[in-house]
Formats: sequence, C-alpha cells, structure tokens
Amino acid sequence: MRKVYCIGELLIDFVAENQGSDLSKANEFTKKAGGAPANVACAIAKLGGKSSFIGAVGKDPMGTFLLKVLQDERVDISLAQRSNKFTTLAFVSIAQDGERDFVFSRGADRELKYDKEIQKDFSGNLVHLGAATALLGGPLEETYNHYFFDALTKEAFISFDPNFRSDLWKGNEEVFIKKCLSYVSKSHLCKFSQEEALLLAGLSSRDPVEKACDILHEAGAKILTVTLGKEGTLVSKGEKKKVVRSIKVDPVDTTGAGDAFIGCLLYQISRLPSTDIIFEDRPEFLKMVKKANKAGALTTTQFGAINSLPGPELLDLNC
Ligand code: ATP
Repeated sequence: MRKVYCIGELLIDFVAENQGSDLSKANEFTKKAGGAPANVACAIAKLGGKSSFIGAVGKDPMGTFLLKVLQDERVDISLAQRSNKFTTLAFVSIAQDGERDFVFSRGADRELKYDKEIQKDFSGNLVHLGAATALLGGPLEETYNHYFFDALTKEAFISFDPNFRSDLWKGNEEVFIKKCLSYVSKSHLCKFSQEEALLLAGLSSRDPVEKACDILHEAGAKILTVTLGKEGTLVSKGEKKKVVRSIKVDPVDTTGAGDAFIGCLLYQISRLPSTDIIFEDRPEFLKMVKKANKAGALTTTQFGAINSLPGPELLDLNC
C-alpha cells in the first residue's frame, strides 16, 4: 500500500452553537479540528490506509489539540510543523438565510516551511493538495508550490482539491482561478464541487457542469470528479462522462462529506498495484467512486467532520 501525503491547513473551527444567527449574536462555540487536507488524511487513516499530514500549527494548546486529533486517527504527523505564530482559527455560524457567517484569524498554517528532504518520499506515493488557504500567499504558498513541483518530478500521483471558500477570496476570484488552473492542468485527479468546476471554467451557476468539465479538460485536466451532493458524483475523463449515484441517507450535517469522498477514493487508489487502470476506459474506477460516494453520504448522517468519517466495515472495500 502506498502512502498519501496530504498538504495544506489544519486549524480550529469554532462552530457557533446557536445556528441560525450571525456571529455577532453567537455566544457559545464548540471547538472542532478543521482543515480539508487534514480531514482527508484522517479519512484515509480511518479506512486503514497510510497518510501523512504536512502543515503547520502553533506551539500553543490549540496546536497540541489538533495534532493529537490526527495522531488518535493514526495519521503520521512526523512532518507537521509547530510555528511560533498562534494556531489558525475559524469562527463559523450558519445565518438564518443559510449563508455562512465566517471570521478567520490566520496564524500558523501560513508559516509552513519547505523541507527538501521530503521530496524523496513522494516517489511512488500519492500527494494530495488542498488549497483552501494555501494559495492565499505567504510561506505556505511557496512551500506548496515547491511540493507540487517535487511531486511532479518524483512522478507521484497528484490529487488536487481547490476547496474554494468564497469568504476568503471575495473580490479576488480571478486570482484564485488563475492560481488553481496551473494545478488543475498538471494533477492526475481533481475533486471539485459543482460551484468550483463552474467557477474555474469561467462559467455561471446556470451553465451545465459538463461544459465546465470540457473547458477544464481543454486546460489540461485529466480525471475530474465533481461532487453533486445527494445526486452523487460526475466523473469526467474528457469525452467520457458519467454520474455515479450515491446512496440514500438522511443528512444532518454535510461538513466534511467532500473530504470523506476524496479520502476514500485516494485510499482505494493507494492500494492499486498501478494507477494506470483509473485512466483507462474500464469500470473499476467508477466502482471506486461509488464506494467513495457512500463514504461521503455516511459522513452526512452525523454531526462534525472527522468524528463522522466511516470505517472500512461500512464500505465493503475488499470486493
Ligand atoms: P465539502 O462541503 O466537504 O466541500 P462537497 O461539496 O465537495 O463537500 P458533497 O457533494 O457535499 O461534497 O459530498 C461529497 C459526496 O458525498 C457526494 O458526491 C455524494 O456522493 C455524497 N453525499 C453528500 N451529501 C449526500 C446526501 N445528502 N445524500 C447522499 N450522498 C451524499
């Protein structure tokens, strides 16, 4: 089994207890581990896979808490760094109109330093890049670019998830798109939400997502998985497109469904003797996506992200 290196942010999500009001009225918060690449690392480890998290937290109690969460999930944290800056915090509430109210206090995640010794470990393994905060500038972005280049040179299997957060890129969407497209064009696998696929393709929310995939393939994208919530996932490999249906569930919280999906997919890819099979026109990859859909769906049936990730016993991963 190969290892999956997950690069990006690990932070504290302070989730407002009294949902339905904006943050100015929230007075109780629950502390949760957050950060999409860290969730993906946990999803892989929970299924029995080998994952390593590369990111930075502070030398403060919040950083200690976060690394312990990952360690308890059996994620390799030996490449995680502790910075002198405070751990990055996000305060989140869902307002009455369904919009997310969000305040972000950025600290240690931005400080990740490049370690050129790591590149040799990428050889023959998988590298997953989650871009929520990584493309916002600072040392993290530089480091992230270096590791992307290393992954390419070492011929690692590269997976990219833009993790677009409108709150972080308001007014700068064009910059985000431009930065993402160079990753999209060189990665083997991209995971998008429908909104992200349309945004990166320069289309509006009324356009068909298949058209977005065509534009992104023209820009160099290889395999695209576009997650469609309860509808499942659109898999696009150029001309060949197929929606793989999900299972029926009663969702209570969709946080982390996308991370569970891509984590489960990467776990299955990490067990393949060769990744060639997923680029070919064969049913195996669609079967893997079906199982990843189930992982995403099951995550929505409980509150939280990491704690609701399914284990292997729920996913029939050996057949
Ligand atoms: P995130 O909020 O983590 O960024 P996302 O928008 O990328 O998530 P979703 O589309 O919400 O991801 O979910 C990922 C996958 O999980 C979907 O492709 C689908 O297969 C499954 N899934 C999510 N919600 C449901 C649901 N309500 N019913 C069935 N399956 C679901």
